[in-house]
Amino acid sequence: MTTPLTQFKSDTKESTVDFDHRKWMQTALKGYENTRGGVEETFGDFDQAKRTGAAIKWEAIENLDTLLEEMTQNLEARGTKICWAGNGAEAVDYILRVAEDCDAKKVIKSKCMTTEEIHLNPAMQKAGMEVVESDLGEFIVQLRGEDPFHFVFPAMHLKRNKISKVFEEKIGSEPSNDPEELCMIARSYMRTKYCEADIGISGANFGVAETGMISITENEGNARLTTSLPKVHIAVMGIEKVIPKLDDLSIMLPLLGTAGAGQWLTGYNSMIGGPRQEGEVDGPEEFHLVLVDNHRTRLLADPEQRDALRCIRCGACLNVCPIFKNIGGHSYGTTYQGPIGSVITPHLRGLQPYKHLSYSSSLCGACSETCPVKIDLHHHLMRNRRDAVVEKGGTMERFAMRQFSKVMARPKLYRSCEGLMRLGEKCWRPLKGKKADPLKAWTQTRELHPPAPKSFHKQWKEKQQGKS
Ligand code: SF4
Repeated sequence: MTTPLTQFKSDTKESTVDFDHRKWMQTALKGYENTRGGVEETFGDFDQAKRTGAAIKWEAIENLDTLLEEMTQNLEARGTKICWAGNGAEAVDYILRVAEDCDAKKVIKSKCMTTEEIHLNPAMQKAGMEVVESDLGEFIVQLRGEDPFHFVFPAMHLKRNKISKVFEEKIGSEPSNDPEELCMIARSYMRTKYCEADIGISGANFGVAETGMISITENEGNARLTTSLPKVHIAVMGIEKVIPKLDDLSIMLPLLGTAGAGQWLTGYNSMIGGPRQEGEVDGPEEFHLVLVDNHRTRLLADPEQRDALRCIRCGACLNVCPIFKNIGGHSYGTTYQGPIGSVITPHLRGLQPYKHLSYSSSLCGACSETCPVKIDLHHHLMRNRRDAVVEKGGTMERFAMRQFSKVMARPKLYRSCEGLMRLGEKCWRPLKGKKADPLKAWTQTRELHPPAPKSFHKQWKEKQQGKS
């Protein structure tokens, strides 16, 4: 039976031996990191900006109930319809009902990871609708039938020739190796899709409680067309995206652009506060906001880890993570990849089936260091490990760790075990790699070095006695 763990193991086995691909990813991610360095300087004190961003999101998460109420009341006052979805199925049901009510056949979407999380596209397609992703990266992976590789740069794993090939096969374009031409192919294909769409679906980067608005930030202008051309606009937003004040965006938007993509600000920033009002020239006739919980309140109830809800999905922790850089996004098998994905997926989908993600980390702390809202990511990975063992630890593992801690806490016992360790290593070596090798799972991909001929303690003692 395939489990998330067995799938992860087989995917990572494949991705880690593809050295060309690893090099390609590392070069691309290094590029974002370098650009970000330059933009950070323009803040004057970037760490202060991060502290401010963290404080804003902290306030939002601590007051989530009242802020959500404030935001929805303001939105409803301007004619927005609100759906409170406890889980993905409720969100999908609501959206399908709206689609049915307006007899929708065609849907255009801008980037929204929450819709990936609730598996909206397959549900809409199953109901007979055509769904087209309008973000270029999302469009490319959609044509390839793949999930996004990185939640900010969904198609970063693909070189131009592969993009050209999928365009050729799926939308009948001429082959091209020119990035501008490839963009134009996608653009001209999508233009008609915007005009034909009955519904536009978007995400929301932030929800502003004070004014009752959602904020969408993007680089291609596709979200603007998605949210304003079709007659019905549905925005899908995780409940943790709310922030208290409009002013807060003055720090959150630059932080988001800088941390993830090394941009001072993303190209287009839109604020949406309801459907088209009287006297306005554009905008949809109907605006629905679907607020998705989907286990976020479970994370909120955990005082140790609730700061993970501060995440603004900038993607910076993926860009610096040595594991992501080598295994790539698809290996995770989750909606949210990288360190933040490894932290929150066990909360969103279950600790036991996804605990392995918290072990796929070097715990170097680069993710926590880079996070613009100061989420303690690498410690959360350790907390997940701890919780997984407390909830369902292996008897052998517990026994081994108990014996290990006993030995490590008693220097005399530790020293007397040295001889045993050397003997054990000598007996094991002839079995190495053979069927009877008890350490096969470990040594298949790692080298077990023989112990040093003399222990450090012995060498030190000899040095003190002037023997060496
Ligand atoms: S955890 Fe921090 S660095 Fe990672 S995506 Fe979220 S905000 Fe960005």
